[in-house]
Amino acid sequence: MSVATGLGYDCHRLVEGRALVIGGVRIPHTHGLLGHSDADVLTHAIIDALLGAAALGDIGEHFPDTDERYRDADSIELLRAAVALLAEAGCVIEHVDATVVLEQPKLLPHRPAIHARLAEALGVGTRQLNVKATRGEGMGFIGRLEGAAALAIATVTRADAATGVSRADAATG
Ligand code: MG
Repeated sequence: MSVATGLGYDCHRLVEGRALVIGGVRIPHTHGLLGHSDADVLTHAIIDALLGAAALGDIGEHFPDTDERYRDADSIELLRAAVALLAEAGCVIEHVDATVVLEQPKLLPHRPAIHARLAEALGVGTRQLNVKATRGEGMGFIGRLEGAAALAIATVTRADAATGVSRADAATG
């Protein structure tokens, strides 16, 4: 069995007249994130982390923002599709950790709902997912309330057979 990790990062602009959707949860706020899909910055970062761990490219490749099918898409559905791609590749999701960087509103009251929604879509248990939030402390685009960002790291395992020749070569010298 081999273990791999993947990194994900995303950011979106905060604008008036859009819903704020983070981790599949609609959060009441004056502003929302702008994007071709629902611009769920956290879910997008997690998708990229998963694809990275499985060496399957990135979110833009699988769900291009030029594709009308993904206009206003529910990013949780994109996450489900990414989870299915990993399963096809023989990858088992072991753990996902993520941080949302958002000046306001406070995410803490919404964290249980976000955690439940993402864990269900990922098909993982409570202890296999962690979601954190922090602020921009008034600095940069996040601090100026211009946008939000998210980072994620995913750990996956897969059977050695799925990793191909390189490990076998290494073992036999
Ligand atoms: Mg995005």
